[in-house]
Amino acid sequence: MKILIVEDEQHLADGLRFNLEAEGYEAEIAHDGETALDHVQKSVFDAIVLDIMLPGIDGFEVAARLRAKQNFTPILMLTARGRPEDVLKGFEAGTDDYLPKPFDLEIFMARLNGLLRRREWMRKEKTGSRIDDIYTVNGKTIDFANLELRSTGETVHLTLMEIKLLRYLIENENVTVSRKTILEEVWDLQEDTDTRAIDNFIVRLRKYLEDEPNNPQIVRTVRGIGYKFVSGNE
Ligand code: CA
Repeated sequence: MKILIVEDEQHLADGLRFNLEAEGYEAEIAHDGETALDHVQKSVFDAIVLDIMLPGIDGFEVAARLRAKQNFTPILMLTARGRPEDVLKGFEAGTDDYLPKPFDLEIFMARLNGLLRRREWMRKEKTGSRIDDIYTVNGKTIDFANLELRSTGETVHLTLMEIKLLRYLIENENVTVSRKTILEEVWDLQEDTDTRAIDNFIVRLRKYLEDEPNNPQIVRTVRGIGYKFVSGNE
């Protein structure tokens, strides 16, 4: 397993590498975003640990550029104090999990190992979900274990947060769920967060699932409250 550490604080970067190597991982360090993107072009990593506050382009931009290039390496972002707005911005950019600074190295390793096993983690028996690993709606097949959505001739890779949100909506089919509940249940954010942040994720899910994303029939808006998933399946 090879991990890329993107972190401009030398001590922290060295400390993380030391720990990863002690656990049998290979680790490389990039001290800024541009260098990180270079590293990713040159070799394949199993996961990326990505600090948000970096010189030059920030971690959000690094994540967004990787995802735009169809690179779906799992990303664990490091955020200052875990500010909810940063966490959501990171998820929008395509990161998979976050760890607020400062953190304990044991927690770091646990989060990273979880991320490396994320496909396995999304399986029905692991999550205790009522929904099977394969779910079909509107002729599109959602593969929860592989974080993919397949339709005729096309496969879309979903981020971990997109697939978690989708699963949550499907589990609550025909039930209106509020934005606040979604933030708590899917993102695990308890604090007062701007709940409109969810709307961007909903827009993306509609693009994947709906025939007419601007006239949604599956991921419906319930005005003033939240959303309701209606599969239309028999
Ligand atoms: Ca930093």
